[in-house]
Amino acid sequence: MAEPESTVINTNVKQKDPSKALVIAVTTRAIFNLEEEHKLYLEKGKEEYIRHQQANEDKPLPPGTAFAFIQAAQYVNEKILESTPAEKGLFDILVLSNNSPESGARIINSTKHYGLEISKFCFVSDEDSTQYLKSHGVKLFLSADRTDVCNALRRGVSAALIFQQEVQAPSTPLRVVFDGDAVLFSDETDKVFREQGLEGAMQYERAMEAVPMGEGPLKAFAMHLGKMRKKFSQEKSPIRTYLVTARSGRDMGIRAIKTLREWGLAIDEAFFMDGAPKGPILAQIQPHIFFDDGLHNIQGAQNVGVPSAWVPSCC
Ligand SMILES: [Mg+2]
Repeated sequence: MAEPESTVINTNVKQKDPSKALVIAVTTRAIFNLEEEHKLYLEKGKEEYIRHQQANEDKPLPPGTAFAFIQAAQYVNEKILESTPAEKGLFDILVLSNNSPESGARIINSTKHYGLEISKFCFVSDEDSTQYLKSHGVKLFLSADRTDVCNALRRGVSAALIFQQEVQAPSTPLRVVFDGDAVLFSDETDKVFREQGLEGAMQYERAMEAVPMGEGPLKAFAMHLGKMRKKFSQEKSPIRTYLVTARSGRDMGIRAIKTLREWGLAIDEAFFMDGAPKGPILAQIQPHIFFDDGLHNIQGAQNVGVPSAWVPSCC
């Protein structure tokens, strides 16, 4: 069988072990702000785009929405290696691009400029770049292209869509916020809510209280992150994880907590918002990334400068 066309540039001297690492694949438009260049590509075509990128090869690209998250992941690696120099369970970042390698020098130079430790750059010419995710052991895929994200989710890889937005620069530790239903958990209760309203959903939850919820699209990534988190005590951890859910704690919180316990997923803090907007609490947490399936919640997070990643439930 012919190998699909792709160029992989390996830049990491300290080879990471992909079977033990938490591999995150991020596309160039998620990690950098390439909106102007993307517009040029769409309006003037590929040749003009390549010319522009080559002419600006030494001009670093401004950070994009996922930049702070990737930078904080690198901070976590440093902290892990400080305490356990031989540890292999580190973040391993892979940059994926649909650009040709000839326009890729600017991307590589930009990561160098910011001191980002990227282990692989994959310049793939194929339409569906998500076919490489499984073979690279990717546990989370962040892209600015909805089709990419849906393809990744279909392949069983945790994935989310990044929009270009204004981002506040958060300080360490790495803080990750997950929504509950249709993100960590399956969308079973959401479906009941849509069909039978709040009262029906509450009744359903009471009846199902002893039964753990199904797995949502980000569960696998959250479990890997949780494993990394458990290497540290709460005070010394370079990672903090949060659950911010629209569920009410009184009526619908128990099943969520029981499910997390059943999975062995430790979450540092959980907020049951009872339908209240998530923006104010997110502004306080200041996460490096917030995952939600509700576009109104993504909008609320963007309004307070919180880097947001949308997990589409309708691909
Ligand atoms: Mg949800």
